[in-house]
Amino acid sequence: MDKADTHPGAPAIGIEGLRKSFGDLEVLGGIDLTVARGEVVCVIGPSGSGKSTLLRCVNMLEEPSAGRISVAGAEVTDPDVDIDRVRRRIGMVFQSFNLFPHLTALDNLTIAQRRVLGRSRPEAEKVARANLVRVGLTDKEASYPAQLSGGQQQRVAIARALSMEPELMLFDEPTSALDPELVGDVLAVMRQLADEGMTMLVVTHEMSFAREVADRVVFMDEGAVVEQGAPEQVIGNPQHRRTRVFLARVL
Ligand code: ADP
Ligand code: MG
Repeated sequence: MDKADTHPGAPAIGIEGLRKSFGDLEVLGGIDLTVARGEVVCVIGPSGSGKSTLLRCVNMLEEPSAGRISVAGAEVTDPDVDIDRVRRRIGMVFQSFNLFPHLTALDNLTIAQRRVLGRSRPEAEKVARANLVRVGLTDKEASYPAQLSGGQQQRVAIARALSMEPELMLFDEPTSALDPELVGDVLAVMRQLADEGMTMLVVTHEMSFAREVADRVVFMDEGAVVEQGAPEQVIGNPQHRRTRVFLARVL
């Protein structure tokens, strides 16, 4: 069995004692967090609290300074693991959509399927079209990113991630760069994914999304998990002063 293989009984994400420093700056001071399969976990917290760094450590875009992280039982922090094989199972959506500007929406969705998964063009296009339908962009396959609104571009980015058939999805403030009137369409797609049972770890400032869609909300401050629990608890009845101060600013 390869170290990158999935273990059926393992949680989607397991994080133990995760620390990360940039030089002298400690950004994550020991995070423990488990995400079950099918669970939707929203991470909230002030700017600079380490939310993006946490997410980026899960697929090793940042190398942890200490601690262990596993994805479906494959330990990504093990230097002997084939990290590229694990990454294929993780979809990531960023605040900036990171589409290829010179490729159409359809080609943005097929390129990694063909290059990474070795799918033929017809096979990749079939999967791509099904995922454009899923995000409500059936008629945009021939459009280039510059011809699409920010919300449409972000939905293409989500469809691109889905075309790789990931086991879990990481979202880092996917609606923060959007004009307010475009946020709802992207959140609706994310809500639908959650309803379909996708495992999702979502950094967001959209408190109504967190309240309605998350199974669990995690509040982070200064590189630590301050409190976590059901949304009605963490957002509705926070126990820590720092959580209340943060919520008073964003609600
Ligand atoms: P958040 O997403 O919660 O706003 P980040 O994880 O982006 O927080 O950043 C946490 C802290 O780490 C910030 O102080 C930020 O400046 C710092 N930081 C993030 N990435 C780097 C990096 N590559 N080099 C140095 N410092 C970084
Ligand atoms: Mg961030």
